[in-house]
Amino acid sequence: MMAGSHVVMGAALWAVTAKLGGGPAGDPQALAAAALGSLLPDIDHPQSWAGRKLRPISVPLSLLVGHRGITHSALAVLACLGALMVMGTGWMAAPVVVGYLSHLAADALTPSGVPLLWPSRRRFTLNLCETGSFIEMGLVAAVAVLGGWAAGVDISALPRPRF
Ligand SMILES: [Zn+2]
Repeated sequence: MMAGSHVVMGAALWAVTAKLGGGPAGDPQALAAAALGSLLPDIDHPQSWAGRKLRPISVPLSLLVGHRGITHSALAVLACLGALMVMGTGWMAAPVVVGYLSHLAADALTPSGVPLLWPSRRRFTLNLCETGSFIEMGLVAAVAVLGGWAAGVDISALPRPRF
């Protein structure tokens, strides 16, 4: 999926998770952390948003394991969680992990899937939509509406066309 799709899905999924958990679904810091988490897995691709920001990591990583390798696995989610705890940024753990998981789920919708149980080479895919397709955009829009509802965006306050 495209970086923009990942950010929207990560933030929206966090808003829904927070609402279900009874927390503040619209907290900007947590939403930003979820968006960050949703971009992290593509650090294995030097041309991705995260990959361009962290080239010293993304270039060797892409050479070593290739795109959609270890960073798209359950092991990476645990490593990410551990790193946040060690860095003393535990408050970010929940939204970052939700964002990270949303990325894996979103990539699992595409035909190439994700190696969830890396180092096993088995790829998990629902084969629902191609990256950048209309179906992807439709899915992202639906998740965004759900996230907006969870975060308490007042739809009646949005500008409406006048006739
Ligand atoms: Zn990815």
